[in-house]
Amino acid sequence: MEVSISVVCPEEEAISRTEKIKEKLGEIKDIEIRVMAEKSKNGKTVIRINIDSKQFNENLEKIKEAITGLPAIARVKTEQSGGGYTNTGFAEATLLTNGEIPRKVAGSHYANGVHAIYYITHGFVGSASYHNKDSPALRGRVYYVAVDLDNGYQEIEIAKISKEDMEATPEIEIIQRPPKISDHRLLEVIAEMTELLYDKCTCYHCREEHSI
Ligand SMILES: [Zn+2]
Repeated sequence: MEVSISVVCPEEEAISRTEKIKEKLGEIKDIEIRVMAEKSKNGKTVIRINIDSKQFNENLEKIKEAITGLPAIARVKTEQSGGGYTNTGFAEATLLTNGEIPRKVAGSHYANGVHAIYYITHGFVGSASYHNKDSPALRGRVYYVAVDLDNGYQEIEIAKISKEDMEATPEIEIIQRPPKISDHRLLEVIAEMTELLYDKCTCYHCREEHSI
């Protein structure tokens, strides 16, 4: 997964702070550091640092040092993508812990492509594949992802999911429980995730973000 850190900085310091951050973190592989000039408001600018989640955890102390004194928030980049073919399908989806779909910040309308990109602090990411001749037709997995600058990025495998056909109730096998979510809530959200993935996997040449 990719982690994106938004660092808020006074507009007039944006260039010099970015240079300093680049000096400290430039050695890290595949890191992207840039000033989001279009995000400037009230004399503040956002410096965005995009980094692979593994690299983020390995360099957490270094990153915190580089942005010290500036307010910052880390988020995970997730997506809704995929769709159906004649007999098969695949999909990826994201739900917040309250069961809602996050606010989309980007996306495309390509057939079975990436239809929505989200940045979340924590939530559920599910992926599934579908084959109409298999039993069950849909199989997938759900992960809990969370990120913050104190604890780093974490990813927990939460459940194995399956669904026989359109009418069937989702089958859920809980592997591990995420923190601070009741059992009842967890099952509700995972069931919702399974239905969302089923809809997406069976939507021929899907071009849109699906809602719930
Ligand atoms: Zn669709």
